Amino acid sequence: MIIRKSVSEIEKMRRAGSIVAEVLERMREWVRPGVTTKELDALTEALIHSRGGIPSFKGYPPGSQHPFEASICASVNEELVHGIPASRRLLEGDIISIDVGVILDGYHGDAAITLPVGRISADAQRLLDVTEGALDAGIEAARLPNRAGDISAAIQLYVEEREFNVVREYTGHGIGRSMHEDPQVPNYGRPGHGAALRAGMTVALEPMVLAGDSCVKVADDHWTVVSCDGNLTAHFEHTIGITQGEADILTRL
Ligand code: MG
Repeated sequence: MIIRKSVSEIEKMRRAGSIVAEVLERMREWVRPGVTTKELDALTEALIHSRGGIPSFKGYPPGSQHPFEASICASVNEELVHGIPASRRLLEGDIISIDVGVILDGYHGDAAITLPVGRISADAQRLLDVTEGALDAGIEAARLPNRAGDISAAIQLYVEEREFNVVREYTGHGIGRSMHEDPQVPNYGRPGHGAALRAGMTVALEPMVLAGDSCVKVADDHWTVVSCDGNLTAHFEHTIGITQGEADILTRL
């Protein structure tokens, strides 16, 4: 069931989203060679708490045998999403996806960026640019009278025209009082298919892009999703609201 939000609910989501945006903005300074992903997680958790929010990834999903135990997903190089912060030190030339979710006043914000660690290769930079461009293409397609499939197709086309691949197993999603609501918004799809977009819908769009082929697997830690061939991957995400006009980006400062 797709839950459309009132104007006041959207404003609550924007406040949660602004904490997410602040974390990701600060991450541009925090990410550098030598820092550990656990340190990035601790900095994030402190910032979220100082703003009155709750890190929504921590302990997710409730009741699971292997709940996620950090406030960020930190996914380095061939790690696509859901990397667990650890004592790993970032190296010059790495790329790192940081995904963060915040609950404030009962509403969620969720966003991700992939950042360079120091100087990176031209190939790695192109992967980041294409993945961020795919998110922009998805946001551009997130308008009336389109359907969810139009967003999916826009992301897929943008990525595949540039000779990268999208992941099939993990998708964007509705978001609101829950981190994951209907509808699913895959990073591939057919125009004119899927749920009709309506003003008041709130969704997290999140292109996950592979430099190699689109095979992924989950590591032994039960969480980290990695490319099967070891090639680089990237991930960008925003929480947006559907309006009568262009999409309203809720995870932006
Ligand atoms: Mg998400």
